[in-house]
Amino acid sequence: MTEQQAELIPPLTVLTEDETLLRDSVRQFAQDRIRPHVQEMDEHAKIPRALIDELFDLGVMGIEVPETYGGGGGRFFHAVLAVEEFSAVDPSIGVLVDVQNTLCVNALLRWGSDDLKRRYLPALASHSVGAYALSEAGSGSDAFALAARARDQGDHFVLDGRKLWITNANEADVFLVFATVNPEAGYRGITAFVVERGVEGFAVGKKEDKLGIRASSTCELLLDGCKVPRANVLGEVGKGYKVAIETLNEGRIGIGAQMIGLARGALDHAVKYTKERKQFGKAIAEFQGVQFQLARAAVDLEAARLTVYNAARLRDAGKPFLTEAAICKIFSSEVAEHVSSLALNLFGGYGFVRDYPVEKLYRDAKIGQIYEGTSNLQLVTIAKQMLG
Ligand SMILES: Cc1cc2nc3c(=O)[nH]c(=O)nc-3n(C[C@H](O)[C@H](O)[C@H](O)COP(=O)(O)OP(=O)(O)OC[C@H]3O[C@@H](n4cnc5c(N)ncnc54)[C@H](O)[C@@H]3O)c2cc1C
Repeated sequence: MTEQQAELIPPLTVLTEDETLLRDSVRQFAQDRIRPHVQEMDEHAKIPRALIDELFDLGVMGIEVPETYGGGGGRFFHAVLAVEEFSAVDPSIGVLVDVQNTLCVNALLRWGSDDLKRRYLPALASHSVGAYALSEAGSGSDAFALAARARDQGDHFVLDGRKLWITNANEADVFLVFATVNPEAGYRGITAFVVERGVEGFAVGKKEDKLGIRASSTCELLLDGCKVPRANVLGEVGKGYKVAIETLNEGRIGIGAQMIGLARGALDHAVKYTKERKQFGKAIAEFQGVQFQLARAAVDLEAARLTVYNAARLRDAGKPFLTEAAICKIFSSEVAEHVSSLALNLFGGYGFVRDYPVEKLYRDAKIGQIYEGTSNLQLVTIAKQMLG
């Protein structure tokens, strides 16, 4: 291979100049502006609006929004890097940024009419938080069994039903809501709508009290005669299943990024602590038993990062990435769970109390195996691709 050819095929983890710039600015912001508030946000189960405004100022809420609409004009990989960096400090901020970019902005960019793009992308890039509402009490893994109804009234639709588990719902102004125009048609009735907070018949309901990512809001949505203009159909009537499938296929790479960020955060804490903590007259990091545990965690984290970066770069290159995205999500969430568990163990009793950061990361890790398709559903996808 010539030197020139080698330059054309950079290693997966080598970042371009603009990727490095974004990663460094998010890393710095997360250290300076988020870390001091992590514990308080977790305890109060709330992200202060002022901090969300700072995220908009930083330019991370519309990473892929074209510059003509006031966004960052970046790629999906940039969003993945940002989610990873935020999640190393606080996975709640990680998921806020993730849902905004990899689900809401992503769906609007791909499926939105020019009119929808013009009306919503500048807002999402500058001040409006987005939420993505597919799940219901009776339909989670079997998402297309959803029951929320959309009745066609000509120039508008009327939505009725309830959505459950909606991330960012407390803060969001713009909701992508999935409902069916014809329950008998199965998945072919599903339609995606852009719904604004404050429209008649729309309300944000109960906020869940959660094990982890507590600062990230997760709420019910109540649709009771909710009037949505026809112009706010995202994609085509009856093709909402495509909007959902395609955005979630990409979104789960973002969850992979959240999980590798979390694992890195936990491992960094463990490395620092084991070098400081003394038992038997020396730092516990000097025990080979501890060194091997840390090294094994580094092996897993590196492998997980490669699966995430590969899936994201495949997506940006326009290559198939379905299996790779499922692999990155299932693997990264397992790595996040056991690396954060190891970090907690290495803190000993101090790991078990809230004064130290690792118990929170351990609690936060669990969600990676549940949302945007449980681990079993990732296995279903991988097996389907293998077996045809
Ligand atoms: C904190 C949080 C945030 C969320 N955010 C959002 C959001 O923003 N938007 C949104 O739309 N949804 C959101 N969700 C919902 C989430 O995507 C669902 O909870 C998830 O898809 C699982 O659905 P379920 O809870 O109904 O579980 P179920 O589908 O009932 O699954 C229960 C168990 O059965 C297993 N299972 C189900 N079907 C199969 C199968 N075919 N083969 C093998 N095993 C199977 C699952 O793996 C799981 O272990 C969120 C959930 C949480 C907890």
